[in-house]
Amino acid sequence: MADKRLKDDILVYLEVDHGELAEVSMELISKARDLANQLKVNVIAMLSGSGVKKLKKIARPAIKYGANTVYFTADERLKYYETKPYAHVAVEIIRFLSPQIVLFGATPLGRDLAPRVASSLKTGLTADCTDLRIGDHENKREGKTFKDILYQIRPAFGGNIIATIIAPEHRPQMATVRDGVIKLGEPLKGHTGDILPFNVSLKSGDHSYVFEERLIAEKKIDLKKADIIVAGGGGVASKEKFQLIYDLATVLGARVGASRAAVDNGYISRDHQVGQTGTTIRPKLYIACGISGAIQHQAGMDQSSKIIAINNDPNAPIFQIAHYGIVGDLHE
Ligand code: FAD
Repeated sequence: MADKRLKDDILVYLEVDHGELAEVSMELISKARDLANQLKVNVIAMLSGSGVKKLKKIARPAIKYGANTVYFTADERLKYYETKPYAHVAVEIIRFLSPQIVLFGATPLGRDLAPRVASSLKTGLTADCTDLRIGDHENKREGKTFKDILYQIRPAFGGNIIATIIAPEHRPQMATVRDGVIKLGEPLKGHTGDILPFNVSLKSGDHSYVFEERLIAEKKIDLKKADIIVAGGGGVASKEKFQLIYDLATVLGARVGASRAAVDNGYISRDHQVGQTGTTIRPKLYIACGISGAIQHQAGMDQSSKIIAINNDPNAPIFQIAHYGIVGDLHE
C-alpha cells in the first residue's frame, strides 16, 4: 500500500493505447508538470490494469515526462476497461491522496470514467478542455478571494466563445483534456520518480460483464504524426473530386485531412476530420483546400507551422490565419 502523500498534488489518470502509455497521458503529465511547478506540488499518476510487470513498463514514460510517483493497481479483473471497477479504483486512490487537481484525457475512456468519478466525489468536471492555467479568482459579491485555482479553458456555445471555467470551492478540481491540444515536449532529462503498487479490493458487484473476446479496430489514419496535411472542405464539392486532394497528398508525401462539411457530405470518413470535434494537429505544413476556416475547424489546425489556403472567397476566415493564400478555384 502506498504511503499517504501530502495533499494538494496534481493527479493524472493514465491510459493505455495498444499496450503502451497513451500519448494523451504523456501530454497531460507534461502539462501537469508545468502547473505543479507553479503550485510547488508533486505530479502523481494512476494506472489500472493487469500484470504488475506490464503496468510498471507502461508507467515508465510518465516518470520521464515529469510524474513524481505513479500508483498502479494490478488485478486480472482490470484487464479490460469497465466503468464500475475502474471508477471504484480511481475514487479510492483520489480519496486517499486528496489531490487538488485531477486530469483525464477526453478520450472515449476518459469521457466515460471522469463523470462517474466526479459524481462519486461530489465535485465538478469540465469536459474537453483545450488549455489549463493557474490563476486567482475574486468573488466580489461574497467578498472571497481564491488563490491558485485551476482555470479550465474550453470552447463554449458551439465554439463561438472561449470559456474559462472554475470550481473554486470544490476539490478536486477535475477536467478532461482533448488529445493533441497540449504540445508534447521532450522527456525531462534525468527526471526520476517511483512506480508503486496501490492495492484496492474490488467488489464483485463492480463487474457487470464477462468478456469473451475483445476486438480492437486498428486506427486507419493517424493525422497527429503527419508532417504535411492536405485537407479538403465543402468547396471540393463531391466525393469524386476529392481524389484531387488525395493526388496532391501523394505527390507531397502527405496525409489527407478534411473539414466537417466534407465529412458530413460523405466525401471522406470521419477519422480524417480536423477540428474541435475531430483531431487536433500541428503539422509543419497544412494546405486547406476549399475550407472556409470556421472557428471549430481552426481549433484543430491553427497551431500548424505553415498554413496555405486555397479558397475562391477572398473574405474566407481561413485567410486570417494562413501564411500564404491563393484566391481562386481549387480545381485549377
Ligand atoms: P463550407 O462552409 O461549405 O465552406 C466551403 C468553403 O470553400 C467556402 O469558404 C467557399 O468559399 C470555398 N469554396 C467553394 N468552392 C470553392 C472552389 N471551387 N475553390 C476554392 N474554394 C471554394 N468543422 C470542422 O471542420 N471540424 C470540426 O471539428 C468541427 N466541429 C464542430 C463542432 C460544433 C459544436 C459545431 C457547431 C460545428 C463544428 N464544425 C466543425 C463545423 C464548422 O462550423 C463549419 O460548418 C465547417 O468547418 C465548414 O466546413 P467547410 O469550411 O469545409 O465548408
